[in-house]
Parts: sequence; structure tokens; C-alpha cells
Amino acid sequence: MCLEINGRPKKILKYPNSRLRVPSEKCEFSENLIKLIANMKETMMKNGGVGLAAIQIGVPRQVFIAYDNIFINPELIIEDETQIYSVEGCLSLPNNLQRKVKRFQKISVRYTTERGEQELKEFDGQEACVIQHEFDHLKGVLIIDKDNQ
Ligand SMILES: [Zn+2]
Repeated sequence: MCLEINGRPKKILKYPNSRLRVPSEKCEFSENLIKLIANMKETMMKNGGVGLAAIQIGVPRQVFIAYDNIFINPELIIEDETQIYSVEGCLSLPNNLQRKVKRFQKISVRYTTERGEQELKEFDGQEACVIQHEFDHLKGVLIIDKDNQ
């Protein structure tokens, strides 16, 4: 069950808020989830981000946005171990802090769409990096935790 959420855009939690460290739980497809997603889209756009995880507005459920896609209960599938460097920022970090992190160049994601359909899709490059960044949020991991060597 997802938390009740009203229409107004939410405040984005900032590091070192301990709630950002809470692992997110699987989500059921519901009316509340649709409201949550609408709210996340608005909050992300208002803040000029390209991705946002529900936990960043304090809701510990497995849902995030990366560019134009919504991922509900996502599962990452790594078949190609090739890694690339990605320079990333995060709406939850102060002062537009950026960090160089290692990401898989190509990933597949199994997830539920915002229409409630099951999807398995491949992503690469920048989009794959944003998805991995948001996926980290679901585990309570931030880019400042990553080994950047
Ligand atoms: Zn982030």
C-alpha cells in the first residue's frame, strides 16, 4: 500500500536526512500510486531533475522516474559487465554537488509501467545511468557513497 498523498508538490529530502537511507518496499498498483507518480512528476519538473525516486519525497516505495519513464517495482538485469564513468548530480544533495561514478553501460529492466503493464526493456548510456542512480535510491544509496575510482 502506498501512502496517502495530496496534490501539492512535495519538498525534496536533502542529505543528511536519515529517511533517504530507508530501503523502499514493493508497491501495489493503486489509485494512491497513480497520485504519488503525478506528484513526483510535478516535483521533479519544478526542481529541474531528470530523475526522482519516491523516497526523495519521503515515501519508501519502489517507484522512480527516469526521464520520461516510470518504473514501478523495478528489477535490474545486468548481462554485460562493461562499465562507464558517469558525472551525476542529485536533487537530494546540497549545492548541486556532482560526482563521477561507475555505472553499467547497458542494462535491462523488468518493471511495471504507470499503466500497470509488465515491461522488460533495455537501456544504455545516459538513460541507463539515471536508472541505476534512481535504483540506488531504492536501497538507500547515494552517489556520495560510491567508489569513484
Ligand atoms: Zn539522486
